[in-house]
Amino acid sequence: MIVIGLGGNLPSQFGSPSGTLLAAVHALGQRAVIVRRLSPLYETAPVPVSDQPWYVNGVAAVETPLRPADLLLTLQRIEAQFGRVRTVRNAARVIDLDILDYDGQLVDEAGLKLPHPRLAERAFVLYPLRDIAPAWRHPVTGKTIDALIAELPKEQQIRRMSGD
Ligand code: AMP
Repeated sequence: MIVIGLGGNLPSQFGSPSGTLLAAVHALGQRAVIVRRLSPLYETAPVPVSDQPWYVNGVAAVETPLRPADLLLTLQRIEAQFGRVRTVRNAARVIDLDILDYDGQLVDEAGLKLPHPRLAERAFVLYPLRDIAPAWRHPVTGKTIDALIAELPKEQQIRRMSGD
């Protein structure tokens, strides 16, 4: 399964962060990345903790003929198209698109690491991933999502948005 993480915490030309995420799903489809399952969206406190606005996050299971490096390029082009401005690490952003898992492949290159290295520490990835793929296991550790969620530090605040 190929899984993409979506997040954002600033309004964009497409409206609120949740509107922007849905527009990104559409943009993926126009670039040969077909979203088969989209999780419910979650509102999440910034990690690391800061006074930025809360994020909206979700994950999508996709199908695509693109290899990992080309998929990453496509995600970065969509981020640019949506007006993402890269400043400092962990800065507020209109959209963040990450490859979380690509069919369990292990990649360790300067510009691309798979599975996503911080995947297992993030409530805003694990909760929506459990919604669409409860049997998923971490490609390196083999841990189940339930086990990873149980190990999360308790201070990450997350709430499911209604109506999704
Ligand atoms: P971010 O600020 O979270 O969008 O991080 C983007 C940087 O992470 C880029 O320089 C990417 O090359 C790098 N990166 C490494 N692995 C991944 C991945 N699995 N998905 C997205 N970006 C990645």
